Amino acid sequence: MKYGIVLDAGSSHTSVYVYNWPAEKENDTGVVQQVEVCKVDGPGISSYSKDVEKAGLSLQDCMNTAKQVIPKKEHRDTPVYLGATAGMRLLSLDNNKIADKVLLSVEKSLRLYPFDFQGCRIITGQEEGAYGWISINYMLGNFKQSSSWMPFQQTSTETSGALDLGGASTQITFEPTDSINESPENFMLFRLYGKTYNVYTHSFLCYGKDQALRLRLANDVKNAGSTNLQNPCFNPGYVKNMSAVDLYGSPCTAKYKLFSSSFILITGTGDYHQCQQNLQDMFNKTECPYSRCSFNRIFQPELSGNFGAFSAFYFVMNFLNLTSEKDLSKVKETLKEFCSESWQQVKEKFPDIKEKYLSEYCFSGTYILTLLEMGYGFTSENWGNINFLRKIKGSDAAWTLGYMLNLTNMIPAELPSSPPLSHA
Ligand code: AMP
Repeated sequence: MKYGIVLDAGSSHTSVYVYNWPAEKENDTGVVQQVEVCKVDGPGISSYSKDVEKAGLSLQDCMNTAKQVIPKKEHRDTPVYLGATAGMRLLSLDNNKIADKVLLSVEKSLRLYPFDFQGCRIITGQEEGAYGWISINYMLGNFKQSSSWMPFQQTSTETSGALDLGGASTQITFEPTDSINESPENFMLFRLYGKTYNVYTHSFLCYGKDQALRLRLANDVKNAGSTNLQNPCFNPGYVKNMSAVDLYGSPCTAKYKLFSSSFILITGTGDYHQCQQNLQDMFNKTECPYSRCSFNRIFQPELSGNFGAFSAFYFVMNFLNLTSEKDLSKVKETLKEFCSESWQQVKEKFPDIKEKYLSEYCFSGTYILTLLEMGYGFTSENWGNINFLRKIKGSDAAWTLGYMLNLTNMIPAELPSSPPLSHA
C-alpha cells in the first residue's frame, strides 16, 4: 500500500487525513481510501495570529498518530500537504504578513516528521469547491467510464453536485446541463478518465456559518442602533454577551463597527419565521448582471442533478434529525419547533452537546435553509435531490481527497487504450 496525508486547516479546526491505496492500482478510480482522521485539539490555525509558534505545535499529536498508522518503511514516500481555507483567507486579507508567519510555523512543524513534505498553502475558494466535487464523485464511483476494451459498458454516469459549508465560507459546485458562456471565472474544465467536465463553482467568503452569524449580528446592531439585541435565531431564555473584538475582528464585519461599547448583549426570542426573515436580508437578489444569479450579483446556472451536502450542512441537519427528511415543509416544522423550545429545555434534553454548538442550532438550521432556498434556489420540488452526508464508503466527504488525487496525478486525463496488466 502507498500512503498520503492531507491537513485540512479550516477556520474552526484542523483535521489530519491519512489515505492509502494499492500501489499498482493508483490510477484506477475509487481505490483511494481514508484510513484515519485525527481532529487537532484547539482552534483553527488562523486563530494563532497572536502566538504563531503554537499553530505548528498544535499539529503534533495528530502528526504522531499519522506516524503510528503508516508503516515505517512507507514514511519517506508519504507526501504531506496542508491546505488552509477561508479562516486563513480572511487572516491574509486582514494581515498578510501574519498569515505568512502562521503558514511558516505549520511548515516548520510538519518538516520535523519523516514524511515527504509537499507544502502548506491557502487554497482558493474555487479550488475548495472543485476538489470537494472531485472527492465526492470519485468516492461515489461516478468517474467510471466505458473504455475502449469494454466498449459496451456505455453507461455514462451523471456527476453529483457538492455543497460544502464551513465556518467562514461556503461552496456550491455542480455540472450544469447546458453549456454556458457567462462568467468564466465560475467554471473549471477537467479532463478525467477520458471525459471532459465543465464544472460550475462558487465560494462565498463570509457566508460560512460562523462568519454569517457575525455578519447578521453586526448588521442588527447597526440597524437597531443599540448593542442590546433581541434575536429570534436563538432559543428563548438564551442570553449571551459577545465581545466586540469577536464580533468585529474579521474583515467580514470590520466595516460595521460603530460603537465603542466592548460587548454586545444577545437575548434569544426563538422565532423561526422572524429569524428566516431577518436572514433573508443577507441575500441580495435584486441586482444581477447575468442571465441568472444566486445572490449578491453572482452568476449561477440552473440547478441540476443530485447534490451531496457535507461538513456543517451535515453536522447541523444531523443534530436536527433532518438528514433524510425529503419533505421541505416538514424540515421547516422541525426547525420552528426547535427554535421555540426554551434554552433551559434544550440544555436539559442535550446535556452532552457542546453549548457553543447547541446554542447555535436554531440559527444554523435556519441559515442553512435560507441559503439553500433563497440563496441557491432549491425548492420543495428538488429538496429531495440534496443528500446530507458525512462519509461516502468510509471516507469523510471533504475537499482533501480531491486535492491529494490531483497533486499526486492520480486521476489520469485519459483512459489507457489497452487493458492494464492488473486488469488481465
Ligand atoms: P471549518 O472549520 O471552517 O471547516 O468549519 C466547520 C464548521 O462546522 C464550523 O462552523 C464549526 O463550528 C462547525 N461544526 C463542527 N462540528 C459541529 C457540530 N458537531 N455541530 C455543529 N457545528 C459543527
